[in-house]
Amino acid sequence: MAVTVPDITVGVLALQGAFSEHVQLLRQAAAALRQKKGVDLKWGFIEVRTPQELARCEGLIIPGGESTTMSLVAARSGILEPLRDFVKVQRKPTWGTCAGLILLAESANRTKKGGQELIGGLDVRVNRNHFGRQQESFQASLSLPFLGATADKSADQPYRCVFIRAPVVEKILPHAQGVQTEEQEKDETVVAPSKTPGDALAKEEVSKDVEVMATLSFKTPALQKDHEHEHPGKEDIIAVRQGNVFGCSFHPELTEDARIHVWWLEGVLKAAERRQAFELADRTK
Ligand code: GLN
Repeated sequence: MAVTVPDITVGVLALQGAFSEHVQLLRQAAAALRQKKGVDLKWGFIEVRTPQELARCEGLIIPGGESTTMSLVAARSGILEPLRDFVKVQRKPTWGTCAGLILLAESANRTKKGGQELIGGLDVRVNRNHFGRQQESFQASLSLPFLGATADKSADQPYRCVFIRAPVVEKILPHAQGVQTEEQEKDETVVAPSKTPGDALAKEEVSKDVEVMATLSFKTPALQKDHEHEHPGKEDIIAVRQGNVFGCSFHPELTEDARIHVWWLEGVLKAAERRQAFELADRTK
């Protein structure tokens, strides 16, 4: 039987949480991309549980779930360090949703020391359960301007954002030495270990500024409220990007809207092309 080798393999971390939902939306997104661009690229989407599986990936999604459990399982199964290498040393495209955003933060508060480890990669501090407990889940219809240029539907069409015990980005941290030590000294705060980017391209990506991609404001209409949702801040940061690492507080995987997956896969493709060009230039030096 002929084995088809994918041109690009994208993984979803499958230790806990909503991983199969992401795989499904990735498939939908790849089909949408094929239609839109007519590029007959073979995408491979895999569930990632081992360092070997991770090594095959050009990009990775870390799903929503429970960040403490995910980090414990990752540490126990020996994939935590390879994940840090993937995100911070090789700087491959990574996207974290909800618990995934927590794991990608360089600092997370409301966390017992020793109870949780972070991967890091985004120079931000997240507040873990900012939007309350499980029963305080809510949905909000937001326009996500970053989808504008590439999405198949218009950017004005709101995206249904599902928040479940969702974190918020409470601070954008400077990309400077010593920040982690400062953060570590705060109460109930854990930080990710620092790593050195593996080459010039990774260094360039890591040094990019954190961009705020979406906020939730007082005026956002909540579509469904299980409970009255109190909004502590005026504008809460709920999506950020730093180069090719992206994180959002909500769960796109719990909707049937593949627009963010389409946008993200386009980014993975661009990053893979950049990496190829960089390696080629390096070899011909
Ligand atoms: N706040 C949760 C955590 O700490 C994340 C919730 C979620 O992914 N729905 O992991």
